Amino acid sequence: MIYFGELKEKKGIVNIIKDRCKGCSFCVEYCPRDVLEMSEEFNVKGYHPPRVINPDNCCYCQLCEAICPEFAIFVTLREEEEREREKEISRP
Ligand code: SF4
Ligand code: SF4
Repeated sequence: MIYFGELKEKKGIVNIIKDRCKGCSFCVEYCPRDVLEMSEEFNVKGYHPPRVINPDNCCYCQLCEAICPEFAIFVTLREEEEREREKEISRP
């Protein structure tokens, strides 16, 4: 029997570079977890960028990152962020 150990779902943190966005909504449409929606605000180009509405749903699939034609969205691993934060706190 294959033992997979304790399988833990990955969690992502979504980062949006608002002023790069051209408001195509691909990231919103294709996100499998409904993490994003289009916002009402305008960026410098006059487009509506997306915003995160369900941060805890992000499973770090990185589909939004891969599909964005403007490289305006990227995802980081939540565990890594937490580890970095812990390191900063423990530094003298
Ligand atoms: S990484 Fe996946 S689940 Fe997270 S926001 Fe992007 S498409 Fe949605
Ligand atoms: S896919 Fe990229 S350009 Fe399109 S709405 Fe999302 S962030 Fe903006």
